[in-house]
Amino acid sequence: MNPSHAPWERLLLREAVIEHMSDHMHQRLPEEACGVLIGHADEASRSITVTQFIPVKNTAENPLHSFHLDPLQWTRLVLAEKGIVGLFHSHPHTTPEPSGEDLLQLQSFGGLLRVYAIASPVVPGATGLNALQLQAYKITRSEEDRESFIQLPPSSWSLPGRAFYSLAPIPFTILKE
Ligand SMILES: [Zn+2]
Repeated sequence: MNPSHAPWERLLLREAVIEHMSDHMHQRLPEEACGVLIGHADEASRSITVTQFIPVKNTAENPLHSFHLDPLQWTRLVLAEKGIVGLFHSHPHTTPEPSGEDLLQLQSFGGLLRVYAIASPVVPGATGLNALQLQAYKITRSEEDRESFIQLPPSSWSLPGRAFYSLAPIPFTILKE
């Protein structure tokens, strides 16, 4: 089954994963931080569990306002890690909602992933779970647009309304260990 076809309803995040994302985000400020989420999907309960966060270097030309996963590190992870379920990145200056650029980037890796997490820092000095505002999204695939989408030349994939993969909010539960 294509990962994007499953009707995921719930995301379970280990507390340690959120703390790790928060720490990494704060260490990288004022730049955007990014990384991959490791875990597993359970189709019976329609849930995805994230058990580990692996930070990846942000190699974007302008890391203050965008992110680009270091291609070498990303390739190594894809080859070595069987359980990549999603991506994380931070929005240091805005709310944790997907930007137009995020949706554009999603088109190149949407088929590989199931979830997408974005966080923004909260008040300075806050720590752990209180130090971030976190939003989780599931990656959905639009079948209706598929035909018109694949007929377009790659340069026009950014046209509004042509997105093949998109993001829908998904509730998450924190797993205390
Ligand atoms: Zn973003």
